[in-house]
Amino acid sequence: MPTSTEKRCAHCGKEGSKRCLGCLGAPEHQLGDAGETVYCSKDCQEKGRAKHKYRCKKLKKRIILFRVGRMLKATVLAYREVLFPINIKSVELRNGTLCFDYDTQAGPELVPFPEGLTDDKNLKEAALMINQCEAVPHLISPLARHFFPAFKPMALIRFDLDVIPVIPVQMSKELEWDPMHTILKVILKDESWALDLTGRQYGYPEYIQPWGQYLEKKWRKRGAASLQCIGPYRMADEMGDLDEVFRLTAARPGIWIFRNATDRFARRHFQAFAKSRFNELSAKELLRGTDEEFDKKVGEFAGEVKALMTKFMQNFEQIP
Ligand SMILES: [Zn+2]
Ligand SMILES: [Zn+2]
Repeated sequence: MPTSTEKRCAHCGKEGSKRCLGCLGAPEHQLGDAGETVYCSKDCQEKGRAKHKYRCKKLKKRIILFRVGRMLKATVLAYREVLFPINIKSVELRNGTLCFDYDTQAGPELVPFPEGLTDDKNLKEAALMINQCEAVPHLISPLARHFFPAFKPMALIRFDLDVIPVIPVQMSKELEWDPMHTILKVILKDESWALDLTGRQYGYPEYIQPWGQYLEKKWRKRGAASLQCIGPYRMADEMGDLDEVFRLTAARPGIWIFRNATDRFARRHFQAFAKSRFNELSAKELLRGTDEEFDKKVGEFAGEVKALMTKFMQNFEQIP
């Protein structure tokens, strides 16, 4: 069995086992493009630094991108657990189909996600993300702004996709379901990534994938128009952006969810918090550390979001 000791030093070509820790564990964008870099000695690592620098930096950015994605997703889930607009009856896998049953007659009152609806973490996440693909990029925009400046060459663009769920999805019969999906496209120098924070509603486990790979698996091509950029993701004023979505998608079902007045107040409350919660330094700090340390920080921040929004709902009289 090959071990890391059989690897070749990136500088002198001898056997080496000292791995560059800066880029270790980076995700692949193309097959085999994130292999670890190994040196035989500290001396060779020093000498090989200039040559490795560019690649190391690039791979490190991927690691950070994945962390940003995780953090944003955990935030959205925490937020939705407190403010859930659907009177959901069940979420289950039935014969390989992801089934959501909910009462479409009930008004869009925001309530905590029902405890004990399911023990399955993935099903719960799927339910929490129903109809959120357009709302989520707006909700997180002030938060995203803190983290994405770390990638200067990065731009964010929002696309509409036709998707083939990896797991067939069945909604309550009464609801007409249009399988459109909105994700973020993140450009990292010469590579593009699909950031899909709400994909669990279609059974997608990945929240970040290389752009091409994502499209290949999930985009049902119905002519060029079915892949539609609905505007740059400016991460600017959230309500301005949402209004733009209304304008562009006015005829789409499910939009009623955003029209809930409480939801608008709640978003603004969350966003005011998100704006002041981090600065460039503390945003960078949050993304640092070992995987365990980062996990802990994500959990703590999700808890903070939950507490914030719970307090908000306790003091807010819902507007019908
Ligand atoms: Zn060497
Ligand atoms: Zn490296």
